[in-house]
Amino acid sequence: MTDNAPSSVPLVIYTGGTLGMVAGEHGLTPDGNIEARLARALDALPARRRAALPTFDMLAFPDPIDSSAATPREWQRLAREIARRYRDHPGVVVLHGTDTLAWTASSLAYQLQGLDRPVVVTGAMQPLEAEGSDAADNVELALRFAVNPALKEVAIAFGGKLLRGVRARKWQSHDADAFASPNSPLLGERIGRDPVLYPERGLSHQERGVPRFELPDYGPLAEGGVARIALWPGITARQVTAWLEDPALKGALLEVWGGGNVPEDPALLGVLAKASGQGKLLAAISQCPHGGIDIGHYAAGQGLNEAGVLSADDMTPEAALTKLVHLLARPLADGERRRRFLTRLVGER
Ligand code: ASP
Repeated sequence: MTDNAPSSVPLVIYTGGTLGMVAGEHGLTPDGNIEARLARALDALPARRRAALPTFDMLAFPDPIDSSAATPREWQRLAREIARRYRDHPGVVVLHGTDTLAWTASSLAYQLQGLDRPVVVTGAMQPLEAEGSDAADNVELALRFAVNPALKEVAIAFGGKLLRGVRARKWQSHDADAFASPNSPLLGERIGRDPVLYPERGLSHQERGVPRFELPDYGPLAEGGVARIALWPGITARQVTAWLEDPALKGALLEVWGGGNVPEDPALLGVLAKASGQGKLLAAISQCPHGGIDIGHYAAGQGLNEAGVLSADDMTPEAALTKLVHLLARPLADGERRRRFLTRLVGER
């Protein structure tokens, strides 16, 4: 464990997820004893791959979860843990459930701005001990990228690929190749036996290399502070009002159509304008996974501009929503918050 002296080996933080689960009475459930179980799985890799693996320190959260139970509080807890310990390690690997892994990775990117070393999040579609499990392969890939000093950001290593954390989405519910970054190229990949990093695709110098972490308290936003509202044909102003008039709500992500289109319904647009006027931070992305939005391109979308809704361009829903949470948790003036939402902070847009 790692509370003692600085170490030259990466730190692995286990938060839960299928990777560490075992069969229980009611299905798979998170289990402890991860250090020994992980060591056994990595030992079973072919000798040459085993030999290329760095040794590591391990921090196992005492209460591993299925990542469907994560909230902004868990994102905050994890970022603080990394911020407290990262200086003692060349890199950090986070073992996490795949279901909300992209949300956590996105949130870490905003909290750990200016990162000067790798933080690599991974998990598995099958538990460590399952026949043909992807767990050891994914941890191997994550560990090898976690000791590459040219990687200076939060990334996801999964299914042979390295993706920017704040650009990635869970794309498959069963396949081992479970993550994709639809609007951003891979940061690296496994070629043959070895991980290959594409450093020219990393963040720009201004975006990395000088840690300027922002670790605000997400607690006040954790229960319903930000909502995600996907439009559908027939959505009514009354339904959107029910979301936006909730006094606990401070911001919302709207998932609109195509290139940035919404129904030309004055009542609906009026509800959005009213919420913006009350200081709620509203942003929009497209329901199309590829490409971004261009608010105002169609007359029907112009109303979003007039209602003060910000364009989230080609961001993933995970990146846009975690950015709303992050900016709303910071003590910023409304104008500055809106400016930052529209600015690329960590390669998210
Ligand atoms: N439900 C699990 C979780 O997200 C799935 C996984 O780990 O892949 O923790």
